[in-house]
Amino acid sequence: DATIEVAGLRKRYGSTAALDGMSFTAEPGRVTGFVGPNGAGKSTTMRIILGLHTADSGRALVGGRPYRSLRSPLRYLGALLDASALHPARTGRNHLLWLARSQGLGRGRVDEVVELVGLASASRRPAGGYSLGMQQRLGLAAALLADPPAIMLDEPFNGMDPEGIVWLRRFLRTLAGQGRAVLVSSHLMGELQGMADHVVVVGRGRVIADSSVADLIAAA
Ligand code: ADP
Ligand code: ADP
Repeated sequence: DATIEVAGLRKRYGSTAALDGMSFTAEPGRVTGFVGPNGAGKSTTMRIILGLHTADSGRALVGGRPYRSLRSPLRYLGALLDASALHPARTGRNHLLWLARSQGLGRGRVDEVVELVGLASASRRPAGGYSLGMQQRLGLAAALLADPPAIMLDEPFNGMDPEGIVWLRRFLRTLAGQGRAVLVSSHLMGELQGMADHVVVVGRGRVIADSSVADLIAAA
């Protein structure tokens, strides 16, 4: 089971309440949009799900267990957070080979994910020349290496060109169609419209609405 569940998450940074009772579920076979203005608590929530930050209270589970307690967490949940530092002189493929080796995966899997994200030829060029969109594709390839049943992406459309956006929207639908749980954040509802099965709208660290985009528009 690949359900991502957060319930009653609270997190303070000094006097700022970053999360104030954040609760929602991202289920297998669905694209769950996670939308809200900058500072609403989306990244903090995702980092807590991954065990990179600790919540003051509440719980965050992947397949019913805290991410950090999973034996091979990368086999449960792949994540694309803000573009991680790439060694500029190494090729995209080299980065993936290194990650694959550390996970006990072979080169064959690297070739597969490179193909999946549309980086086939670019993957043999130095990452220093990658556009932001290509960096996002590489990050997505890395998240998919272990073929996890759940995928989480923080603002993946940022810096993508129109063609990349169209591609990514289709790609996320495909991942959900394969039965994966897909959680994708954005500060723009339009990026999720027509793609997400439902959207969790957040503001000031809590959920304001949780429904289909169509219902949200109808209610407005
Ligand atoms: P979003 O991803 O929706 O833009 P964030 O989760 O990044 O929102 O931030 C939520 C709130 O918590 C913001 O007010 C932000 O400034 C604050 N915040 C996030 N991380 C930290 C941190 N490490 N230290 C202090 N404040 C933080
Ligand atoms: P935690 O206590 O949850 O592990 P940290 O306090 O270690 O989180 O903060 C993580 C990083 O976020 C730090 O490097 C910090 O400098 C940075 N940060 C500080 N203020 C903010 C902010 N307002 N928004 C986002 N990130 C911030």
